[in-house]
Amino acid sequence: MDKQNAEIHGDRLEMSRCSWCGVANPMLKVEHRLSTAIVHSFDYLDPEFDDSPDIERRYWGIFSCTACGGVILVEILHRDVDVYPKPRRVDRAVPERAAHYLREALDTTATPSACIMAAAAAVDQMLKERGYNDKKSSLNSRILAAVEDHVLTDDMGAWAHHVRLEANEERHADEEEPLPSIHDAQRCVDFAIGLAEYLFVLPARVTKGIESAGGEVTPAAGGQSAPRPLADDAM
Ligand SMILES: [Zn+2]
Repeated sequence: MDKQNAEIHGDRLEMSRCSWCGVANPMLKVEHRLSTAIVHSFDYLDPEFDDSPDIERRYWGIFSCTACGGVILVEILHRDVDVYPKPRRVDRAVPERAAHYLREALDTTATPSACIMAAAAAVDQMLKERGYNDKKSSLNSRILAAVEDHVLTDDMGAWAHHVRLEANEERHADEEEPLPSIHDAQRCVDFAIGLAEYLFVLPARVTKGIESAGGEVTPAAGGQSAPRPLADDAM
């Protein structure tokens, strides 16, 4: 298999996980196939003649996942297989315990209750990693403190509370509340992944960029590294 772990076998697309719901070994069946052409020259163009050096063919397949109904577009060009959307992965900059919950949320989108609880656990763990790790504190108080300290913006705090409340509903199994949908789960995962980008991935990239440009980084409050201004000669 190629780097995206995608192969076409007859009417089936084989991938280790669905790009949409994260289910392992998904059943992905073909819905449609087509080919398009890149025309390099019209000099001797014969549209029926695929082997013409003037035409380069791109082959496409549309596959659907039986677990979530999501559609994956596959492109084959020069025997290389590419898929859209690509399966989401957790960046290595995310601390291991938070990454574990994020992966669990990504892999369980087709089972929304499990996914939402994993997303809330990921948010909780990420705030702990940023220093809000008092064992007696709740996720609610961690979010409030992070907003108070401007580690989270007000809008991010509102989203974090939304994920927390969704997870509480699943935990307490309120019969009055409708069951969560796959879209509810995806929204919670999207926020948790976005929060990981904001708290860990982007700061790590900035630090790496400054280091590779010859600058220095100094630790800031909250345990993250904050950049020191680059020297004039490094700009
Ligand atoms: Zn799926």
